[in-house]
Amino acid sequence: DREEPNYFGAGPAQLPTSVLQQAAKDLINYKDLGLGVGEISHRSKDATEVIDNSKAHLRKLLNVPETHEVFYMQGGGTTGFSSLASNLAAAYVGRTGEAAPGGYLVTGSWSQKAEEEAKRLRLATEVIMDARKAPGAEGKFGAIPDEAQWASRIAGKKFSYVYLCENETVHGVEWPALPQCLVDREDIEIVADLSSDILSREVDISQYGVIMAGAQKNIGLAGLTLYIIKKSILEDIKKAEADDAKLAALGIPVTPIAFSYPTVVKNNSAYNTIPIFTLHIMDLVFQNLLKQGGVAHQQQVNEQKARVLYGALDAHPEFYNLPVDKGCRSKMNVVFTLKKEGLDEKFLSGAAALKLTGLKGHRSVGGFRASIYNAVSLESVQKLADYVAAFAKEN
Ligand code: PMP
Repeated sequence: DREEPNYFGAGPAQLPTSVLQQAAKDLINYKDLGLGVGEISHRSKDATEVIDNSKAHLRKLLNVPETHEVFYMQGGGTTGFSSLASNLAAAYVGRTGEAAPGGYLVTGSWSQKAEEEAKRLRLATEVIMDARKAPGAEGKFGAIPDEAQWASRIAGKKFSYVYLCENETVHGVEWPALPQCLVDREDIEIVADLSSDILSREVDISQYGVIMAGAQKNIGLAGLTLYIIKKSILEDIKKAEADDAKLAALGIPVTPIAFSYPTVVKNNSAYNTIPIFTLHIMDLVFQNLLKQGGVAHQQQVNEQKARVLYGALDAHPEFYNLPVDKGCRSKMNVVFTLKKEGLDEKFLSGAAALKLTGLKGHRSVGGFRASIYNAVSLESVQKLADYVAAFAKEN
């Protein structure tokens, strides 16, 4: 057992205590098998049940339509964006017979890394929009330029996919919605990293070609990545892979077998050893969320949490600096700095004395970051908001 934490770490992040308690039991003796859920064969009936049930629960939570498939792979967000690049480049070849660059919308360090990785894999990429280069951005992330500023860069152009990161965990920038100019383009597959905001708000899955999300923030432990993919893309990849000489001629790299989406899907996510304990925790998180009222309910709570915390920070503009534009403030990662110098350590130690932890900002941007993922309660956020107000007044 444990006292309820007030932990604002960015990931790995806090999970519901009840989920961990059940998982702890199941780690030792799952369903009275006399064995733990992490010890059974990944191809056994019980493991297959964990895979199938978790998929069914996720489908229910996100209203996943029949046009889309759910699967899992070992790894994290980085495995996600690495594997997306070659799978999606191949899919485009299968669909059209030609190659086209992957387009990237760069709004923070994770979309930036995704683009760099695709390039490193020798795939053609094109940065459609880099938020740092928008007028007024002064080389910094913190705003999403209006679509009107960059929509012309996709007009009439072909892309094997367009990639975006819905919530930039480090910079605290979240797309309020998918850009309409992309949604309108039926020939463009939208590929999105939802690692730090999956299941935090409702989304229309039919608008996406692929969604990927590393587990260790909203849905579980590190080690597993969740994918939702349009089934037609799987068929396109298979078609492309049937003509390897053509892929080679077009310079599309071969995808390592464990990351080949059609291979993983064909084997119900158990082509190689899937970490079943990690997936079981994910499923317990899904079940817990369904019990609490699903994503619509969670979204309401998350909006309330964000209002409380941003409200407390905004109430002291002379003291706190919020670097992110109001229109794209993340509801998951609240980033802020102190205007006065020399108080950072005091802020953290005062918070720690109240058992408010995990607030240090990412090493690349400094300051503070309060990650208020699904498992962080409104009570915890209220405690932090009270501290934010008190600290400003006292200093
Ligand atoms: N994308 C996003 C949005 C992330 O927040 C992270 C990790 N913080 C990653 C990708 C990379 O995930 P991993 O460390 O699991 O590779």
